[in-house]
Amino acid sequence: MPPGPIFDNSYARLPDRFFARIAPAPFAAPRLIKLNTALAEDLQLDPEWLAGAEGLGFLSGQVIAPGSDSIAMAYAGHQFGNFVPQLGDGRAVMLGEVLDRTGRRFDIQLKGGGRTPFSRGGDGRAALGPVLREYIVSEFMAAIGVPTTRALAAVATGEPVYRETMLPGAVLVRVASSHIRVGTFQFFAARQDTDGVRALADHVIARHYPEAAQAEQPYRALLEAVIAAQASLVARWLLVGFIHGVMNTDNMAVSGETIDYGPCAFMDTYDPATVFSSIDRMGRYAYANQPNIALWNLTRLAETLLPLLHPQEDEAIAIAQEALSAFGPQFTQAHRAGVMAKFGLASTGEGDAEFANAMFEDLSGNQVDFTLFFRRLSAAIDPGVADEPVRSLFVDPTAADALLARWRERLAREPEEANSRRARMDGINPAFIPRNHRIEAVIAAATDNEDFAPFEELLAVLSRPFEDQPDHADYAQPPLEHERVLATFCGT
Ligand code: AMP
Ligand code: MG
Ligand code: MG
Repeated sequence: MPPGPIFDNSYARLPDRFFARIAPAPFAAPRLIKLNTALAEDLQLDPEWLAGAEGLGFLSGQVIAPGSDSIAMAYAGHQFGNFVPQLGDGRAVMLGEVLDRTGRRFDIQLKGGGRTPFSRGGDGRAALGPVLREYIVSEFMAAIGVPTTRALAAVATGEPVYRETMLPGAVLVRVASSHIRVGTFQFFAARQDTDGVRALADHVIARHYPEAAQAEQPYRALLEAVIAAQASLVARWLLVGFIHGVMNTDNMAVSGETIDYGPCAFMDTYDPATVFSSIDRMGRYAYANQPNIALWNLTRLAETLLPLLHPQEDEAIAIAQEALSAFGPQFTQAHRAGVMAKFGLASTGEGDAEFANAMFEDLSGNQVDFTLFFRRLSAAIDPGVADEPVRSLFVDPTAADALLARWRERLAREPEEANSRRARMDGINPAFIPRNHRIEAVIAAATDNEDFAPFEELLAVLSRPFEDQPDHADYAQPPLEHERVLATFCGT
């Protein structure tokens, strides 16, 4: 394994108007907080080198590795429904792309790496807290198999950042199969730059959806592929109680990876209207509204592709509409199958939509913890054996009795030996999620006392989310009343 990364920057070979060439900022006293050794190995980066002085220089942008042609990407986006024609990487520097062991291409990006030509009024910096949150949540998503950007490292910069208060600064070294967003397409479309849209679409096809190149209509196939990827992704979010928080079009990756962990959160108590983000006052990005918003964003993507879909606009619109009409059924199918699997059921059929709706109504009506409910269910396959742990989650335990009875009736239609069913459920329904109050405690210890032990412990627990880990049973618990986190703040 060669010590440093070997970059191959395909995005930097696109036309100049796609990005600004930029070097990361120098930092006073960078210090490695955390290195993701397993991910480094996957990316063919030597963890020992990364952990050493030269590696730290690379991870903090102080040492530019050979072949790194670092850039800030241009993009636009709808923020809370309002179009902003120029956003771009205001505090992220893309060092370049590397190939993993299997030949797949990944961006390595420093988030919080200093000002860029897209910074507008911002300082280009990141505070330690949001860096730790993104590290924890993105690595948890990876651990449960939800497509996501990854965290290669967290580095303290040794410099303060000024928010409402003075906070320690940090850099997240982020890895993504690409950082191309719906908003990247919007950047060119807003400038009537059809050549730009086409060059970007060709790049995305080659990089993420090579099978679309073989299709009769490659750009239509591209649109269909992004729609399918997002339908599946948002279904996965809902199935684990994830609320992204800022589903602006610039925060939706065309690769289908979860990106931009800002005021994101997992819900404790099941409530479809749950919103955490302090800036989402209208509930635009509430838990249950995420599929609607995904479709809204995909419609914006389709608009940018119209000139490529057909030379006649009405024909192009018809093609786009047909592609978009697949989102609803694809999402519903993925979500329903996922819900049934959470209940230990392998098939979906007549009456199951009604079954699931009734179940979820009971969960919300009884303020049931979403994660614990599904985790405890597997032990309660046989009546009377472990009803109590489920019942105790309900405000009205008799509602749990009715629910369990109905569930067991449904189970009987798919006979299966209890042990194998239980194992399957326990491999789908995590025991541990990154609960907000735990993340806040990690951030407080790191920010106030430079104590990273709670961060390490939470990461370790969450790296094995489907194991019960009796020594860490506390981490499975919902917050006590005084621990509840009511709002999360934008990841600045
Ligand atoms: P976000 O809300 O994180 O999706 O960011 C929206 C836009 O604001 C993007 O263009 C970011 O690059 C930019 N941005 C966010 N925070 C900062 C910052 N501290 N300095 C400069 N630009 C920022
Ligand atoms: Mg963003
Ligand atoms: Mg952000």
